[in-house]
Amino acid sequence: MFRCSENCRPYVDPMTQLNKKTVIWRGLKMRCPKCDGAPLFRAYLKPVKECSSCGENWEKIRADDGPAWATMLVVLHVLAPLFHFVTFKSGVSMLTSTLILCGAGLALCLALLPRMKGLFIALIWKTGAPTS
Ligand SMILES: [Zn+2]
Repeated sequence: MFRCSENCRPYVDPMTQLNKKTVIWRGLKMRCPKCDGAPLFRAYLKPVKECSSCGENWEKIRADDGPAWATMLVVLHVLAPLFHFVTFKSGVSMLTSTLILCGAGLALCLALLPRMKGLFIALIWKTGAPTS
């Protein structure tokens, strides 16, 4: 059996030693999960091919339907109590409550979707999960 002496340690890239909280936070900020030095997206939902700061290749990671699923999970849990309040407690008309709920739902979806995609890309990168 091979035994290392004190100076015989395998090289470990310090960037891959990030903890999951850091990686998740960087993904939610839509920044590069590896270095936090550059944006993760070049358009609304289009990831950059590679990080302009550290060179990590983001083109190979595909989040598929995960971000949409997570966005709907959060948005619907936020809208359910809002629906109850607006419909039964506020006394506004049905048209007004419908407009409020549709506007809130649309705004939340548009705000959360790229953040969820950043989160999924960061987690897939961190865990090395296979992508399609
Ligand atoms: Zn980077």
